[in-house]
Amino acid sequence: MLALGVACFMALLPTKGTVAQPAARVTIDVTPPPEVAKGEPPTPPAPEPSEPPDGVDCSVVACVALTFDDGPSAYDAALLDKLDELGVKATFFNTGQNTANRPEAVKRQVESGHQVGGHSWNHRDMKKLTAADACADADRTARAIRDAAGVETTLVRPPYGSWNDEILAACAGKTFVLWDVDTEDWLTHDPAKITAHAVNDPKPGSIILMHDTVAETIDALPGIVSGLKARGFELVTVAGLFNDPIAPGQAIYFGPRAGAPTS
Ligand SMILES: [Zn+2]
Repeated sequence: MLALGVACFMALLPTKGTVAQPAARVTIDVTPPPEVAKGEPPTPPAPEPSEPPDGVDCSVVACVALTFDDGPSAYDAALLDKLDELGVKATFFNTGQNTANRPEAVKRQVESGHQVGGHSWNHRDMKKLTAADACADADRTARAIRDAAGVETTLVRPPYGSWNDEILAACAGKTFVLWDVDTEDWLTHDPAKITAHAVNDPKPGSIILMHDTVAETIDALPGIVSGLKARGFELVTVAGLFNDPIAPGQAIYFGPRAGAPTS
C-alpha cells in the first residue's frame, strides 16, 4: 500500500525538465456557499460561568490563602495531618531539590487537595541569575514537581520575594506568587508571634507567608485557623482566591479585596 501510495504521489509530480503549461481556462465560482449566513456575524456562545476552584466565591466573601515555602521538609507529615484535621486547603511552594528528596510528600500535598508551586531548585535569588537561567531553574523545579506528583504547575514563588519584570517576562507561562502578610516564622520561631501576624495582619484576599520547615508554625496552626475563621475569613488555596484561572505573566501579592472580616 505504501509503495503504491508513493508511486501515485510521484506520478503527480512534474518530471524534471518539463515546462508547466498554462491552464487553458479558469472559472471562479463567486456564489457564496449556502451555509454562510449574510448580515450579523454569528453570536459566540456565552461562556460558561466559572466555578470557584475551592467552592467559595472570593469575589464576594473575605478569603485568605495560607502558603508554605521551602519544603517539603521532615515536618510535612505532621503539617499535612494537621491541615487534614482542620479541614483546610493550603498552597505549598516547594524547592526542586527538596521535591526530588521527598517526592512522596509532594504527592501527598496534591492528593490531599492542596495546591503546589515551585520555589526555585535550591533557593537561589532569581535576580542573581540571568533571566534565562532563573527561568530554566523554575522549569527544572516544575518538572521535579510533575515527576513527584503528576501535576503541571505554572506558579512560582521567587525566593526572598526577589524578582523583576525582565525575569517575569522571560519566564513565559509562569505566574509569580508573592505575599502581603509575612508571619516571620523563620525569624522568630515563636508560636505566639507567628499566630499574631497570621491572624491579625490579613485583609480580605491576603496571601500569608509561612514555612513548612518551621516546627513552631505547625504548633501554631490550630490557633491560626481558628483565629482567622473567628474573624470571618474563608481559607482557600492561591487559585481559590480567584474565580478564573490566574493569567500567566503577572506577579500577584494578594487576591480580590472582597467581603469584610467580621472583626
Ligand atoms: Zn524560601
